Amino acid sequence: MIIGILKETGTEKRVAILPGEVTALKKLGVDVSVESNAGENAFASDEEYKAAGAEITSRKEVFTKASFLISINIVPDNDLKYCRESQVLCSVLNPVESAQWLDKARTQQLTVLALDMIPRTTRAQAMDILSSMATVSGYKAVLHAASLSRRFFPMFMSAAGTIKPSRVLILGAGVAGLQAIAIARKLGAVVEVFDVRAAVKEEVKSLGGKFIEVEGAKEDVAAGGYAVEQSEEFKKKQQELIQQRVVASDVVITTAQIPGKKAPLLILKETVSAMKPGSIIVDLAASTGGNCELTENGKTLIVNGITIIGKSDYPSDMSTDASKMFGSNIINLLKILIDKEGNFMLNMEDEIINGTTAVHAGEYMSQRIKQLLNVK
Ligand code: NAD
Repeated sequence: MIIGILKETGTEKRVAILPGEVTALKKLGVDVSVESNAGENAFASDEEYKAAGAEITSRKEVFTKASFLISINIVPDNDLKYCRESQVLCSVLNPVESAQWLDKARTQQLTVLALDMIPRTTRAQAMDILSSMATVSGYKAVLHAASLSRRFFPMFMSAAGTIKPSRVLILGAGVAGLQAIAIARKLGAVVEVFDVRAAVKEEVKSLGGKFIEVEGAKEDVAAGGYAVEQSEEFKKKQQELIQQRVVASDVVITTAQIPGKKAPLLILKETVSAMKPGSIIVDLAASTGGNCELTENGKTLIVNGITIIGKSDYPSDMSTDASKMFGSNIINLLKILIDKEGNFMLNMEDEIINGTTAVHAGEYMSQRIKQLLNVK
C-alpha cells in the first residue's frame, strides 16, 4: 500500500507526518509518497523526507499513486475530483461544518476516517489528536497572554517593593484548560477555574488551581465525558459568578466547548466593559462561536483597553511540535488499520475504527456522526 502525505493549504503551517514519522510508517510495511514541499512550514525539507525513505512527488501524483491519503485538514473540495472509489482520506473532519463535503465523499464511494471522532477511551489515548492539539493550544494561549500582558505573572518581591501575582481565570478544564492551568501556575499566577463537570475538580486542585463551583450542573454519562447543555437556572447562576471572577482577573483563557454545538456564551459584553483596562481574554472556543460575546474568530480586538484574542489555530503556530504529535497519533491509529503484509484493513468490529470511520462504501458509518448530522 502507498500512503500519501499532502501539503496543507491556506494558512495551515503543520504537516500531518514529519520525516521522523515516515521512518515509523515504513516499519509498518507501507510505501510513502509525499507532496513536494509538504513540510516546509514545519521546517522539514524534501531531502529529509527522502532520507527517511519517502518518495517526493507532485500533488496530483500523490492522489494518483496513494490509496490512503493523510492530511490535517480535509482535502479542499476541488481536489475531490482527483479521488477514486475506495480511496481512503484520513484527516480531521469537523463533521458539522464539513457536512456537504462528507456527503460528496460518500457519494464518490470514498472511505473517510475522521481523526476528531476517535473515541475518547483509554485504548485510543495514544491516537487522540484532539488531546495533542488541545495541549498545544492551552500551552500557547497562556504564553501569548503573558507576553501581551503589562503585568508580571508571578509575585515579585524586590527592592522596588512587592508586586502582586496576576490572576488568571480559566473557563473549561478539558485538555486545553488543564494544560493552561499547569503553565499559568508554572509562571507563578494565581489560577481560578470553572467547569460544568465536577469530575475535573480534583485534577484542577492537583495542578494548583482553585476550582470555583456552581451547584446544580447537569452531567450525562452517555456524553462520554463531554459537557452537555445546562439548564437555564444553572446558566444564570453560573453567569453571575463567572462575571464576578472575570472582572477580578488580569487574564481569562476560555476553552469551553460542547461537541457539535455552538460554544456556550460565558462572558457578556457588559462584563468585558467592567474589566480592568490592560486585561486579556484568549478565547480558544473562537471557531465554534466563542465563549465571549465580543470574540471574532481569527481576530485580536482591543475594546476599552481589554484585548480579546479569538484564536483556535495555535497548533499551526507551533507547527514543528504540533506536527510531531499529530504524526505520532496517526502512526498509532495506523497500527490497527494495517495488517502484517502492509495492507489496509477496516475491521468494523473494532470500536475505535467503527467510531472513526465517517463514510465507507457509500454509507455513513460512525454513530456519532450520524447523530451530529441527523442522517441514517
Ligand atoms: P472540550 O474541548 O469538549 O471542552 C472543554 C471543556 O469545557 C470541558 O472540560 C467541558 O466540560 C467544559 N465546558 C463545556 N461547557 C461549559 C460551560 N458552560 N461552562 C464551563 N465549562 C464548560 O473538552 P476536551 O478537552 O475535548 O475533553 C472532553 C472530555 O474528554 C473530558 O472528559 C476529557 O477528560 C475526556 N478525554 C478523554 C481522553 C481519552 O480517554 N482518550 C482524551 C482526552 C480527553
